Amino acid sequence: MASQSEPRDVVIEMRAVNKWYDDFHVLKDIDLTVERGERIVICGPSGSGKSTLIRCINHLEAHQEGTIDVNGTRLNESSRNITQIRREVGMVFQQFNLFPHMTILDNLCFAPMWARNTPRMDAEATAMRYLERVGIAEQRDKYPGQLSGGQQQRVAIARSLCMNPSIMLFDEPTSALDPEMIKEVLDVMIELAHSGMTMLCVTHEMSFARSVADRVIFMDSGEIVEQNTPDAFFDHPQMDRTRRFLSQIL
Ligand code: ADP
Ligand code: MG
Repeated sequence: MASQSEPRDVVIEMRAVNKWYDDFHVLKDIDLTVERGERIVICGPSGSGKSTLIRCINHLEAHQEGTIDVNGTRLNESSRNITQIRREVGMVFQQFNLFPHMTILDNLCFAPMWARNTPRMDAEATAMRYLERVGIAEQRDKYPGQLSGGQQQRVAIARSLCMNPSIMLFDEPTSALDPEMIKEVLDVMIELAHSGMTMLCVTHEMSFARSVADRVIFMDSGEIVEQNTPDAFFDHPQMDRTRRFLSQIL
């Protein structure tokens, strides 16, 4: 994070964002400013709007009111702006969403080659670098179905990194995993956090929040109810709704 003397380097700015699904008000006056290199954990009850919030950042969902700027580009209906923003933002989902009929290596090379016109040799070199980083290099010729859930999720993270994003969004990346596989995915995320990546992570993994988050945001009923540093958030929650939530998950 920038120190006080440096100008703030804001990479995501959401102002008074409101969103409805038909007449259901899912995001209510969301104000959120994220600085370069910040690591944010978003938690809250199921249905509180966490996924919708982060999906709005790369326009997988459209908001109806307010403004969202990503690296200085305004998110509006301009497809040019949306394309520009999606270049900056990588996303990892609960379900890994790998292409089942492609090898691990081809999963990583597909978007760089077909969306960015990267020559295969370069795409493969980048892919191997990231597969090594997430500890999966030796599985390059296998298919997703031959890997464990934890390995598939690490591949999904590597695939996202191959597009060279400056911001990574994670939507409950460990929720679909067996308990023994959660740590191997969190370790990759922790390493990524230490590398300086700007990260917004929807997760209830409090060990992750405590070890790397700069800020924890608690959402309920479409609102940001409370946000604080992890220690203050977990040890001294201010709002009743937060305390109730924490008592259920801790
Ligand atoms: P969370 O990720 O916190 O569980 P979501 O953002 O997925 O919450 O959903 C927030 C609310 O919006 C929920 O009540 C959910 O049922 C509703 N919702 C999510 N997606 C849609 C959709 N495509 N159409 C209508 N309602 C939706
Ligand atoms: Mg969700």
